[in-house]
Amino acid sequence: MKVRFWGVRGSIPAPGPDTNRYGGNTSCVSVTTATGHLIILDMGTGLMHLGNHLLATEFGKGGGAATILLSHAHWDHIQGLGFFAPVFIPGNRFELRGHGRSSSMLEGILEGQMNPNFSPLYTLKNLGAAFDVHAIVPGEPFTAGGVRVTAQPNPHGTTTALAFRLEEGAASFVYASDVGYGPDGPTPAVRALYRGADALLHDTTYTPADQARRQSRGFSSYEQAADAAIAAGAKRLIAFHYDQDYSDADVDALTAACRAYLDTHGGRAIELIPAAEGLELTL
Ligand SMILES: [Zn+2]
Repeated sequence: MKVRFWGVRGSIPAPGPDTNRYGGNTSCVSVTTATGHLIILDMGTGLMHLGNHLLATEFGKGGGAATILLSHAHWDHIQGLGFFAPVFIPGNRFELRGHGRSSSMLEGILEGQMNPNFSPLYTLKNLGAAFDVHAIVPGEPFTAGGVRVTAQPNPHGTTTALAFRLEEGAASFVYASDVGYGPDGPTPAVRALYRGADALLHDTTYTPADQARRQSRGFSSYEQAADAAIAAGAKRLIAFHYDQDYSDADVDALTAACRAYLDTHGGRAIELIPAAEGLELTL
């Protein structure tokens, strides 16, 4: 699996001179499988840049197919959809899988952002490409391009966000953005989802002090992310979904503090990788 980051910011895009190095776009990660299938994790504003990149491939000619995994439908995870160029090209096919009591309910939520009060697109039916929406049943695995995908919900403020485990051969990648654990930490099902991951991408929105001040927002501190990675025996921890007010220097400091925390809490062997736009990893 090749993992690439197109948007690593939380909550709202934060472009500008202070965020150039890590990037200001909101959540979007692509995974290219061994068979060349494309899996897209979340549709934040980074999706626009992935789309422009894809125009040089079969997606530019209407011959592309991809799976989109949606953790939840907050703005910073869906706002790229209306600016994702391949979705307007007839012949392309997208299968979106996400959280919802039913597929029609999930489709209705996505349809909501196309309402003429919010967007000139009016409806998902105007996208051009085939765009099929399916609700995920937590814990029930499915395959996408030869990759086995399992999802489990995490608490996220007043709602929940799905965490995804992707397995291809012996390689495993877990995507766990937007996580606000209760006092007992991850549920047993989520612990099992994280276990032994080659790479655990985890919400590191805040420093511990900021997290304590804004607990109701449902995000993690770097300490909570590190604890999850240590408990899971993950090989790598990928820091992700930085607060919109954090500059590149703030993220540098957060990463250094997370490294120190890992080193002093049993996670010395865990490689810490701060996600940044354009960064690519092979698992
Ligand atoms: Zn978010």
